[in-house]
Amino acid sequence: MHIIHTIAQLRSELGSTTPNGKSIGVVPTMGALHDGHISLLQSAREQCDVVVMTLFVNPTQFNDPADFLKYPRDVARDSLIAENAGVDFIFAPAPDEMYAQGFDTVVSVPGLSNILEGASRPGHFDGVATVVTKLLNIVRADRAYFGQKDYQQLQVVKRLSADLNIGTEIVACPTVREPDGLAMSSRNVRLTPGQRRAAVVLSKALFEARKSMQAGEMDAVKLAGAIAKTVSDEPLAKLDYAVIVDPENLKPLTTIDLTNRAVALIAAKFGDVRLIDNIELFR
Ligand code: AMP
Repeated sequence: MHIIHTIAQLRSELGSTTPNGKSIGVVPTMGALHDGHISLLQSAREQCDVVVMTLFVNPTQFNDPADFLKYPRDVARDSLIAENAGVDFIFAPAPDEMYAQGFDTVVSVPGLSNILEGASRPGHFDGVATVVTKLLNIVRADRAYFGQKDYQQLQVVKRLSADLNIGTEIVACPTVREPDGLAMSSRNVRLTPGQRRAAVVLSKALFEARKSMQAGEMDAVKLAGAIAKTVSDEPLAKLDYAVIVDPENLKPLTTIDLTNRAVALIAAKFGDVRLIDNIELFR
């Protein structure tokens, strides 16, 4: 496995490794790897000849500078995990390699970006869309792997990739959870033991909603209300939103129509740690 820091070197390595039609898979990450990331790397390893993992804590997607500073970083540990998962190249650029002096472009997907996470984190998805566009242009992979855990991000990435004819297939990977149901996240390490125990309420509320839906409750507003109540009943949780939306345009649904799919999205803070989770609702 090679760790590469510059765009020029990555392009040259990939050019010489993949001359005769070998497929490239890319897994964009911000590091602090956990089993969720590893599942993406494994899918890429199974489906592609060459696997590139990008490792870049992107400053432009943090609307809160303190959150950026506190983001967990451990390149040595991440490199070991990536190597064990069969990664061929880690692309770990410095911020000024990605944002050279004079950088002045923003990729924006406004319809999907200004709601939900975007409403609570202004500018976040412009930062995500811009860096993902750059990474997809830099690597020019056949497939790029993203987690359903970050559901809104996945929809933003699918939209920009289609709209800008990027030519990389966007592969959605299922959410990996802790044994008690909490969705794995690099932010979980910042929870106190009490907050960690309380955080299980998110997945519990989502699983309960899926169960009531499967038992016949098709009123999306009621289901969202029940999710909100379960979370609000947990004293350490501060609910931001609990909604049931159309999976593609993320617009709120009033009823769940069995011919369409629906997804329940949730965000809450535990102390200063903001967690998100979601579940697809199907019968
Ligand atoms: P991050 O390093 O948090 O930017 O995440 C990198 C990629 O890993 C994104 O596509 C995430 O959606 C994905 N990811 C993060 N947590 C999980 C999880 N628990 N299960 C599956 N994928 C995940």
